[in-house]
Amino acid sequence: MKVDNRKVALIGTGMVGMSYAYAMLNQSACDELVLIDVNRMRAEGEAMDLNHGLAFAPSNMKIYAGDYEDCRDADIVAICAGVAQKEGESRLDLLKRNAAVFQSIVDPVTASGFNGIFLVATNPVDIMTRITCDLSGFNPRRVLGTGTTLDTARLRYLLGGYLKVDPKNVHAYVIGEHGDSEFVPWSQAMLATKPILSLCGEKGSRKICQGDLEQIAEEVRSAAYRIIEAKHATYYGIGMAMTRITKAILGDEHSVLTVSAMLKGEYGQSGVFAGVPCIINQNGIQSVLTLSLTEEELDHLASSCKTLQKSYEEISFPE
Ligand code: NAD
Repeated sequence: MKVDNRKVALIGTGMVGMSYAYAMLNQSACDELVLIDVNRMRAEGEAMDLNHGLAFAPSNMKIYAGDYEDCRDADIVAICAGVAQKEGESRLDLLKRNAAVFQSIVDPVTASGFNGIFLVATNPVDIMTRITCDLSGFNPRRVLGTGTTLDTARLRYLLGGYLKVDPKNVHAYVIGEHGDSEFVPWSQAMLATKPILSLCGEKGSRKICQGDLEQIAEEVRSAAYRIIEAKHATYYGIGMAMTRITKAILGDEHSVLTVSAMLKGEYGQSGVFAGVPCIINQNGIQSVLTLSLTEEELDHLASSCKTLQKSYEEISFPE
């Protein structure tokens, strides 16, 4: 009998990391979960806490606090580690500090002999994913970030409410930077197989209008700010988004998710990592889907990629 052991190593057992771990446990998304953090005691406490819920979980899971050597035979290394912005610290200084944190993580992970897939959630996620790719020297198709997966879920939720249909039947994406320059290519948004834009102005009991759609896109863009204002951080949604991506990889699903992927000529962009719909399977990114964007949407994506390229170029790696 062949028993596959789906193993995930999680680095960074803060709010995002543990929301991911909790969702993974409740969805039986892997068989072995190792928790790694610079604060070893925290990782140990979190492992104990999760293990005490095992009796109520849908199936068994081996959960423990570990070290970088434990990444050697992992299928996925998920990185949620990061430092928070200090008072008065610029965005760029924060980026540089997180780049240094990543060097202290990715180097020992690759030194362990890890040969799986990197999944990055730390912000700014598109830049941190690109840094992970640089530092690891891995094939870019095996390095992905959460990108606009969560933003896309927020969009589908809001559109479902607006159109009064199950969000599962809403096919629409947020693409580009996970941040201020992200946008919704409305030409590609569908309710089942009907273009959502074609509903605008259509006669019926309710009027769907483009102004409302733009308002929804803005709500998605500003969602994280509003959650942070209310409760200081966001973590459940991203933990579930990471679990969804993990299941697509470990289950070899070939699912379409808007992860942060390196563009290699798609949409006229090269080298930059951005959130775009990709087919995800056991090899990571099987392919980037090229949507039939309008000229205006292509310009919008180019401008978002330019923002990302500029941020990336501003960082110089610490010696
Ligand atoms: P947190 O402060 O609760 O946790 C960060 C963890 O990283 C801590 O446990 C800390 O000890 C650990 N850490 C710091 N330096 C480390 C190192 N060198 N090696 C190993 N571990 C280290 O933060 P959080 O709320 O969990 O957020 C984590 C990251 O996720 C942030 O960058 C945040 O912006 C990002 N985030 C991303 C999304 C997304 O959509 N991609 C959504 C929400 C949050």
